[in-house]
Amino acid sequence: MLELTGLTRRYGSLTALDGVGLRLAPGARHAVIGPNGAGKTTLLNLIAGTERPSEGSVVLDGRDLSRTAPARRARRGIARSFQQPSVIAELTVLDNLVLAGWRHRPAGHAGPRGLFGAGRRRRREETARAGLAAVGLAGYAARRASELSHGQRRLLDLAAALATSPRVLLLDEPAAGLTDRDVDRLLGVLGALPDDVAMLLVEHHTEVVAELADTVTVLVDGRELVAGPVRTALDHPAVRDAYLGTG
Ligand code: ATP
Repeated sequence: MLELTGLTRRYGSLTALDGVGLRLAPGARHAVIGPNGAGKTTLLNLIAGTERPSEGSVVLDGRDLSRTAPARRARRGIARSFQQPSVIAELTVLDNLVLAGWRHRPAGHAGPRGLFGAGRRRRREETARAGLAAVGLAGYAARRASELSHGQRRLLDLAAALATSPRVLLLDEPAAGLTDRDVDRLLGVLGALPDDVAMLLVEHHTEVVAELADTVTVLVDGRELVAGPVRTALDHPAVRDAYLGTG
């Protein structure tokens, strides 16, 4: 269970996020929408740990992570897929996933040398190949990541986040810049997430939100405008005025 309480982030006199609260149970499918500058990315940064809150807390399974470094949060199960994919262009597609699974290994596992032990390496490759198949990239395993299209790199980045066996998956506009075909593939992958993974999705495409999310928070100027079931939130008059009506 991820619990956000009174999350606030100030930059000088600007309050980017203002007292936002949210509870995500395992299996939750929650979206955050809102106009540009509403504080959506700031919210993801505070959960992933790349930013610290000015006030408020981030608690995962009863443990306060508000001041915990991003890598440690990742090991606790908070994974993030970025708007700009964070894959390593020079490595093969397969090695990107092998590395992703290894980098986020739970504390206490074997160190770097373990990556190259033959049996371990084979097992990691098998897992990575299954991860590639899940996002439709099985045929690209031996290619360099630099040869992939933007959409394929985003899918690889998503597979890398999933390779860490996350408890909470943070998605920053996963459909941005994707072709219709890749959006369909993305919807297939995210629609089949394991039941115990909580998903927090920041997304401008309301069709994607309606398809994937059960509940929505609408942020405007850093504050929660509306929160609730996806249809209620998207149809709310104040949301149409503040956000959708302007689109
Ligand atoms: P978009 O949809 O455009 O990505 P957003 O909802 O993700 O917008 P944020 O990126 O979270 O919004 O930004 C919220 C506000 O905080 C904006 O006014 C932004 O300019 C400001 N902001 C974000 N990061 C910083 C920073 N590092 N320093 C100063 N101001 C910042």
